Amino acid sequence: MIRFSQLESITGGKNILFSSDTPVTTISLDSRKASAAEGTVFFAIRGERHDGHDYLQNLYAQGIRQFVVERPLSSPEVFKDANVILVGSAIDALQRLAAFHRSAFSIPVVGITGSNGKTIIKEWLFQMLSKDRVVVKNPGSYNSQIGVPLSVWQLQPHHQLGIFEAGISRPGEMEKIAQVMQPTIGIFTNIGSAHDEGFKNREEKIREKLRLFDHVQTLIYCRDHKTLHDILLKRGLPAFSWGASPESDLQVTPHDNAWAIRYKAQTEILRLPFTDTASVENCLHCVALLLTMGYSFSFIRESVQSLRGVPMRMELKEGIYQSQIIDDTYNNDLGGLEIALQFLTHQHQKKKKRVILSDILESGLEDEALVKKIAGLLTKNGAAAFVGVGPVLGRYQNVFPAGSLFYASTEDFLAQFDFDLLQQEIVLVKGARVFAFEKIVGRLQRQVHGTVMEVDLNALVHNFNYFKSTLRPSTKIMVMVKAFAYGSGSTEIANLLQYHQADYLGVAYADEGVALRKNNITLPIMVMNPSEESFGILFSQNLEPEIYSFKIFHALLNYLQGKPCKIHLKLDTGMHRLGFESAHLDEVIALLLANPQIRVASIFSHLAGADEATHDDFSRAQGRAFETAANQISKALGYRPLYHILNSPGILRLPELQFDMVRLGIGLYGVDPTSEVHPLKPVVTLKTIISQIKKINQGESIGYGRRGVAEKDLTIGTIAIGYADGFSRAFSRGAGRVLVHGAPAKVIGNVCMDMTMVDITGIDAREGDEVIVFGKGLPIQDVAASINTISYEILTSTSERVKRVFVSEGI
Ligand SMILES: *Cc1c(COP(=O)(O)O)cnc(C)c1O
Repeated sequence: MIRFSQLESITGGKNILFSSDTPVTTISLDSRKASAAEGTVFFAIRGERHDGHDYLQNLYAQGIRQFVVERPLSSPEVFKDANVILVGSAIDALQRLAAFHRSAFSIPVVGITGSNGKTIIKEWLFQMLSKDRVVVKNPGSYNSQIGVPLSVWQLQPHHQLGIFEAGISRPGEMEKIAQVMQPTIGIFTNIGSAHDEGFKNREEKIREKLRLFDHVQTLIYCRDHKTLHDILLKRGLPAFSWGASPESDLQVTPHDNAWAIRYKAQTEILRLPFTDTASVENCLHCVALLLTMGYSFSFIRESVQSLRGVPMRMELKEGIYQSQIIDDTYNNDLGGLEIALQFLTHQHQKKKKRVILSDILESGLEDEALVKKIAGLLTKNGAAAFVGVGPVLGRYQNVFPAGSLFYASTEDFLAQFDFDLLQQEIVLVKGARVFAFEKIVGRLQRQVHGTVMEVDLNALVHNFNYFKSTLRPSTKIMVMVKAFAYGSGSTEIANLLQYHQADYLGVAYADEGVALRKNNITLPIMVMNPSEESFGILFSQNLEPEIYSFKIFHALLNYLQGKPCKIHLKLDTGMHRLGFESAHLDEVIALLLANPQIRVASIFSHLAGADEATHDDFSRAQGRAFETAANQISKALGYRPLYHILNSPGILRLPELQFDMVRLGIGLYGVDPTSEVHPLKPVVTLKTIISQIKKINQGESIGYGRRGVAEKDLTIGTIAIGYADGFSRAFSRGAGRVLVHGAPAKVIGNVCMDMTMVDITGIDAREGDEVIVFGKGLPIQDVAASINTISYEILTSTSERVKRVFVSEGI
């Protein structure tokens, strides 16, 4: 066990307060998640926007007593019985501590890096190998400068194998990760374009990533990636290659819907449960690793068969009795449980929380120690009703709070549980695979009809952080969640943004704001189109109206009768939609001065052409006119409200106009409104299924009005989406296309109300297969262009009858 007194020599820092030599067991970096257990050490990390040092006194008040800081304390007298060490860099100290911890273990460690497939390979290896050994891995995709140290910190004496992934975005990072991880076996997955912008060229990126493997005994890679192969040859690393070439150590060739694998002069046939290129490549990396570790072909064959294609992630969906379900039925281990519990803790849409958990298998811990750990994690992450499924949890019922429920098996749960209990709850369902908790989710979720909109919360957070990174640290962000958060589901998105510290939310109508308040969103909310009838609810729910005309201003004053109120003043500087014009300013100012109980929270305007360079002169003129008018108002008021004018394209193209705040809309959802390229990730994917497949003879007609005519023999699929779901009728007759197994399938005939026929000739598809309507693989911009509209319209058109499912790897 490491003690605080050792930190000076491990990190090279200096103790500035030292009261007792406590153990260092839990690392905390996020003040929102820190727990006051004795061994907790808080590392004060300085980010661009957040500074851990700001929370030290609060954390002390919460009971935290050990700190790693980069600056001397401003009021050391407060930290009476604490241990505080001053270091040059808290991240560096964290890495050194993790590296020190890692050095105490002499077990094999598999290190995985490359552009794609890291997480899935790690998860698959974990599934395959934990049958045979006690394995520790990164929780979720904790693979960064900070994530890897936290992952390695989990190492305990009972572990027999570590499997860790690493991702980098800049030169210099991998060397540090390598010191922390100290892998003995490496897997280099492949090299793609991710993070290209951080490096001079592809080769530099490969070289940098290879630093992870400077000391491995074996490095597994696919020889078909030529650049990678050439560089590896030059470096002389102990490489083990697989690929199509006969010179590979493991030669892999297609064979009758399966793969012929030649290794050490023997050939075996292996059938994989996947056919898509990426999954096959990921799976073959795993096979290569298992072979080099000496596992038999029969072990490999059996474990490959049980792999599931979906990546590890949680899905938040609507449940019965107005509940919400977090579906995390993919696997169950302690690291993943903690992530899932934190995710649950941060969902504020429902007040009542519940956890349905299976036994955790293959943890390597004694049952009693394991159950105590689980109970500890539950307590640490806030009160939730507990339901345990499985013999081990059942045997240690007394460890859990009174009122917890226990069932011996999934079947018993389904037969005996009182589902009425779930009324208005949010429920985490997490189970090891053998417990088949998908049956529980099937019972709890509201029926989904084939068509779902999948919202990737991690991509959304990525985009939010990207926009933040382009702004000055002091610039605030108002996120526009109007129109059901651009169609993607406002309360869940708002909740996530609240956690990630957006400053303001913007909605179009008062009832949108009310819905957010009902779901426990406490951020300030601006309402752009307040109506007179809505004033009552507006003020009772603490919503802030936009005031854009004298009519609405007078109505407000009349309603208020002298009571105080916060407003947002909208100026028209050229958009000519809503807002006061410059000629109105004197009168606006006079009204404000006569009603000092009215507080102007912000003054804003809107750009008419922020997305196109041709309008830049006009945009800048709008900016100047705005600033002049806003200054005139501020001067008269004697205080300075927040100024804002930029929307998403404006943030990307005209950062000089960011003033005090920006209004982020479509970019958050991963749609780039400019013609430039920015590293945004698609957030929203609309999916449906093929309900039926038919063979059509040349000359036959398809659909209403017989508007589709087969020019040759065709195979068509009827898909479960129509114009009532928001799939525009404009996609009819070849204008639109969807993706089936990655291949485009054109719409034939007219789009119907609930269904559409598409041409799947030549695509190997079955009834029930998934169809992508837009999103991953089919950019919304392209879909919009096919019917001469804009992404905004495509994104916001999906009707509310289509279920939204939120997916996340945790936050
Ligand atoms: C919708 C809206 C935005 C956000 O625009 P995006 O282009 O989606 O970023 C900003 N400001 C106002 C006034 C809006 O109505």
